[in-house]
Amino acid sequence: MSYVGPDFDPPQPRRPRRRLTWIAAALVPGVLLGWLVYEGVGASANGNGSDTAAVGTPTVSSTSDDSTEDDKKPSPTPTASGSGSLKGKVVVIDPGHNPTNFQHTAEINRKVNIGTNWKECDTTGTSTNSGYAEAKFTLDVAHRLRTLLEKQGATVKLTQDGDRTYGPCVDERARIGNKAHADAVVSIHADGAGADQRGFHVILPGSVHKGAADTRKIVAPSAELGERIAGNFVRATGSAPSNYIGDGTGLVTRTDLGGLNLSTVPKVFIECGNMRDSKDAALLTSGAWRQKAAQGVSEGIVSFLRG
Ligand SMILES: [Zn+2]
Repeated sequence: MSYVGPDFDPPQPRRPRRRLTWIAAALVPGVLLGWLVYEGVGASANGNGSDTAAVGTPTVSSTSDDSTEDDKKPSPTPTASGSGSLKGKVVVIDPGHNPTNFQHTAEINRKVNIGTNWKECDTTGTSTNSGYAEAKFTLDVAHRLRTLLEKQGATVKLTQDGDRTYGPCVDERARIGNKAHADAVVSIHADGAGADQRGFHVILPGSVHKGAADTRKIVAPSAELGERIAGNFVRATGSAPSNYIGDGTGLVTRTDLGGLNLSTVPKVFIECGNMRDSKDAALLTSGAWRQKAAQGVSEGIVSFLRG
């Protein structure tokens, strides 16, 4: 999610930048064209169900995964060609939050230095109205993404794999990518915005240079990575770019996220959809859709790494 918690403050007001204008000019036709083509051919990735079964305080452990047989089916989206072509490339996947963060509030509320500011170590993340936790979603997509990238020959590392009781903290999440000398890092999330706010967006690092934060060298390659992920995400999932942030581009630049500020390697976040919207939630809780989401992110990364 991107609206609650220390690493997910509301985005700063947009500041016009020439580079962003260029990005938007370069990306919008591609993203929107892909989306329109998808819509035009009548394919529908939208689930028909709703996620309105329960209203009230969601829990992160009350709802089991909806993994079904279709989880095992390969995505209809064609995979990038070439086996082993990413040999020697390192990709770090950062599954946002942690399924048991909520049991460790003292630890995750501890402040860490993100260069430009001090922020809490980590947050619990959001969930659908029926209780499917963002942290569970992020880990599932990360596993699918790891499988796809490893098939392409990449070396893949996760910042957490359900193997620790909380966190890691946002500064450590960044350091894991840095120490791995990752060629690309993607942090997987789903948003917690309002009902009827739909679609995905990719978050790019803005230029910051303060304290331990210096993103100046990763701004351009991260934008490239993010554009490629956004374009491929549209194609693989049929989802439209966010209708509530990013002016329809599916891209948002932020300077308040520790996970981006402290990165020294190309890195983006992706908010795959809005867990609080019933239509998006129907997608996010579908194993078949999560496979498409992983496929889209994978193809974006592969495209970026092949240059
Ligand atoms: Zn999140």
